Amino acid sequence: MLKEPFQLINEQILLLNSWNNSKLITGFTTKNGGLSESPFSSFNLGLHVNDDAQTVATNRNKLSELIDFPTSRWACSDQVHENKVVKVTNKMAGSGVYDYQNSIKSTDGVYTTETNILLALCFADCVPLYFYEPKKEIVGIAHAGWKGTVKNIVGEMVHKWTKDENVDPANIKAAIGPSIGPCCYVVDDHVIHFVNDVLQGEHKPYSKVSAGQYALDLKQLNLQLMVASGILKENIDVSHYCTSCSESLFFSHRRDKGKTGRMVSFIGKKESIS
Ligand SMILES: [Zn+2]
Repeated sequence: MLKEPFQLINEQILLLNSWNNSKLITGFTTKNGGLSESPFSSFNLGLHVNDDAQTVATNRNKLSELIDFPTSRWACSDQVHENKVVKVTNKMAGSGVYDYQNSIKSTDGVYTTETNILLALCFADCVPLYFYEPKKEIVGIAHAGWKGTVKNIVGEMVHKWTKDENVDPANIKAAIGPSIGPCCYVVDDHVIHFVNDVLQGEHKPYSKVSAGQYALDLKQLNLQLMVASGILKENIDVSHYCTSCSESLFFSHRRDKGKTGRMVSFIGKKESIS
């Protein structure tokens, strides 16, 4: 098995080591080392899950300290399982950090060309997708549950970068973060119908487990969509972590039956501190 690209660096954070340097930080949080109480124990970063808002704010401040990225420079979205991708500008810094109402509206994909903007999205099983173009220094992330995946949010991101930013997809690096694996993600014919509609390759990223029930590999499907959009396979890192199996590390919407916290995926360019 290939080396896991996301490495735990402390109780709260995994970093995508191969991309990180003094100017770029890319990672994913765990459920540990925060102040929230059950069922959000303990490092819940979701404002929209009925946890105590002040506690979530304290947890967000903790993440800000740990990654040395002020919350005034974060950009958070109101995620709706669609495929809209928005370019984040400096005036959007601070969106949705403490008040969900001023989140970037109805947006599951964000990218920026700016320095000192941290893009942050919330997760509990859905697939975090990371994008980075080192030549033009563009960074992006997307939230893909089955709906965002079959609506091809991957293709939307790559299309925007190609059309609006003049990027060659062959220069894009991508990563697929910790999310629910086929070991724990069974779906029905309704979902598989949409999966078949978006499939580009021959390889079906699901297997039948019983009548009308299928184990679906959303990471594999997003990987196929990345390749179909022109990203080179050798430029894509895929995490092995299943958020449902790794109960000691992650919240899982499915395993925890909907009452749980949220992890955050983040990416941002920093000015070099050296
Ligand atoms: Zn699993």
